[in-house]
Amino acid sequence: MLLSAFLLLSPFLPNALTYNTLSNTTLASLPSPGTDFDVRTGAILAPILVPRVPGTPGQTTVQHHFLNFFRTQLPKWNVTMQNSTSTTPTSGGKKLPFVNIVATRDPPWAKEGETGRLSLVAHYDSKSTPEGFIGATDSAAPCAIILHAARSVDEALTRKWTNVEASHDMAFGDMEGNMGLQILLLDGEEAFQSWTHTDSLYGARSLAEEWERTLNPATSTFRNPLSSIDLFLLLDLLGAKNPTVPSYFRTTHWAYAAMASLESRLRSLQLLKSSPNHPSKRSVSSRGERARNGNLHQRKEPIWLTEANKGEGRWLGGMIEDDHLPFLARGVEILHLIPTPFPRVWHEMDDDGEHLDGDTVEDWATLITAFVGEWMDLEGYLPMDSKGLGEGAGVEARHVGERERTEL
Ligand SMILES: [Zn+2]
Repeated sequence: MLLSAFLLLSPFLPNALTYNTLSNTTLASLPSPGTDFDVRTGAILAPILVPRVPGTPGQTTVQHHFLNFFRTQLPKWNVTMQNSTSTTPTSGGKKLPFVNIVATRDPPWAKEGETGRLSLVAHYDSKSTPEGFIGATDSAAPCAIILHAARSVDEALTRKWTNVEASHDMAFGDMEGNMGLQILLLDGEEAFQSWTHTDSLYGARSLAEEWERTLNPATSTFRNPLSSIDLFLLLDLLGAKNPTVPSYFRTTHWAYAAMASLESRLRSLQLLKSSPNHPSKRSVSSRGERARNGNLHQRKEPIWLTEANKGEGRWLGGMIEDDHLPFLARGVEILHLIPTPFPRVWHEMDDDGEHLDGDTVEDWATLITAFVGEWMDLEGYLPMDSKGLGEGAGVEARHVGERERTEL
């Protein structure tokens, strides 16, 4: 009953919302994280690769890292911390602190309750056992990927919104212009003893409950911060080589398909570094072969989002329990980017920086940045520098034109 009631209340995305797909030139110009993803010294990723169990100093250190990132790299974002406490099965009756970091960037003219948001979500806590567990894929790398994506589109958002203000589009209640971007870095995802409904998702449960009670002004388009979430894009267990990520939810399959299309385009443009066909992976001899024959034998290209063409088949739905559950139960639309099967290192000591695949982490960052750029309709506002287009990509940068999002 409760679930269906909320589903009815939950506003759907505006129908016939249109956006421009990103051009090839824009895709080729997406910023690389460079050394920021270096697992030992990288400014974004390395500080997260420490044990960060709730209630321990590591938790606080990583929180400071995130807050410092927003203060120095994304100063236009509104950053808050949502706090709760809870005992756990292993805390001996002591209440542990759980701190979700909520960062939001809305259009400058946005009134409270009038902005729908794309929410990029990952958990930053690490599992308490085995002792010293790092959780590089779980979910240090996803946190870093999200921060990089946000930084990569930040200036483009400024440019777009300045342009919209100058042309007064927002005066007409333009829904496209009213899109915001949000980052949820959630705490307490991991169980302390064994996974149950009460020993897991401490941060997500608290945030979803609080936002359910936080009502926007009565005449608002969006009833509360939960209904402002157009899409809850949850990243988890990313950073190991050769992931395969199914489409879990029928109602957001259109968004999954949009991301799969971007993956396919990035691959055909040879912009994904983990691809065996990326220019950096070509051997000297294969370059010679190309020079002689004018054609390079293409190695089999992997696909990460394997279910772009999934029809009315079997939908796994909420079979994988993760931070989306308290939001799903309240009618929020979920796109869950988690591989099946899980990485081999899952919940093992070697889920650490050394066992991340650097190219794969960077490629996820590229793909998520592209998805965010397209969702936020930033073609023409992101940097365009065609020198990144791979040799042999065989395509001219072009404006792809408008495409209609089909809502379900
Ligand atoms: Zn985990």
